[in-house]
Amino acid sequence: MNEAAAVLFAAAIQFGGYTDHCKQNECKPPARILVDAHVAQQVAPGKNGWYNQGNAYVRERSPQGMEFTTFHEYIHHLQSLSNRYQQYRGVCNKWLAEKEAYEATNAYAQTKGYQVRYEHALAPYEQKCKAAVAAGLVKDPATYTK
Ligand SMILES: [Zn+2]
Repeated sequence: MNEAAAVLFAAAIQFGGYTDHCKQNECKPPARILVDAHVAQQVAPGKNGWYNQGNAYVRERSPQGMEFTTFHEYIHHLQSLSNRYQQYRGVCNKWLAEKEAYEATNAYAQTKGYQVRYEHALAPYEQKCKAAVAAGLVKDPATYTK
């Protein structure tokens, strides 16, 4: 792991609220795999990154954009390591996991003078959760206990 990755992962632990988990458990960053923009468009259309099976996939673009996407995927890695949101099973857990990842990334980006816009990316997850709650398929996440 290079130093930049270690620093960024430490920030993800802090901003995502995984400090206690990572004091008690081993937390190592996932491998980061850079994906050519053309291939990324074929595999995950419209996405800058995704997390799968312990790897953070990041679409090649500006260094700043790749840093924030890597940070976002680091949060998903920490969610997976800690089992927070049951590794995103269920539409509402997916929404909560994305919400946390975007909010943590934005908080981190603000320390660098940037604002990450994510409402448009988050809205579809929220809509799926609310539709599932309305149909009685899943529990309302507002009733979850931490
Ligand atoms: Zn995400």
